[in-house]
Amino acid sequence: MNSQLSQEQIKAIQEKLKNMPPEQLKEMMKQQCLFCQISNNKIEAKKVYEDDEVLAVLDINPASKGHTIVFPKEHYQVLAQIPEKLIEKLFNIANKMSSIIFETVQAEGTNIFVANGQAAGQNSPHAIIHIIPRFRDDNLGLIWEPKKGDDNELNELQSIIKNKASSIEIKKEKPKVVKKQKIKDEKSPPERVP
Ligand SMILES: [Zn+2]
Repeated sequence: MNSQLSQEQIKAIQEKLKNMPPEQLKEMMKQQCLFCQISNNKIEAKKVYEDDEVLAVLDINPASKGHTIVFPKEHYQVLAQIPEKLIEKLFNIANKMSSIIFETVQAEGTNIFVANGQAAGQNSPHAIIHIIPRFRDDNLGLIWEPKKGDDNELNELQSIIKNKASSIEIKKEKPKVVKKQKIKDEKSPPERVP
């Protein structure tokens, strides 16, 4: 079968995309997304963890033995779009998976790695967390050359970022309410005393 498109066909598709409502465009992206298709069981994957919201699969083109990908079943393009509760859950699971993988492949370390945006090396349209087992001298190249920072620039950045970060609100867990009934029970003597 000839899969080459003619110039006219390409033009027609581009025109169609331009006029497509954002909701429909998002739906189309989901249909094209490998990780959405894995979530919907349309593509088989080597699943190692699954609940109602989160999946973890072995990368079939691993950076190292045990390389695993943890991701939300719902389609989000980048981390910043994921709801806070789900972020908590994702990283909690990623952390636990990291320990399991570390033990399983007898790694000497792991990288828990997120690429946000193409410039950062993101090559899937779906936000994913990589767990990459590391071994001494594995030459994986996730290490950069540190350069001496410019003090003025650091000070300026500190002032701007610190100011913006002061608006971060992390909700504390509410203290557990002790039921009155329970206190009463504790105080009252046991019902049957021999
Ligand atoms: Zn997706």
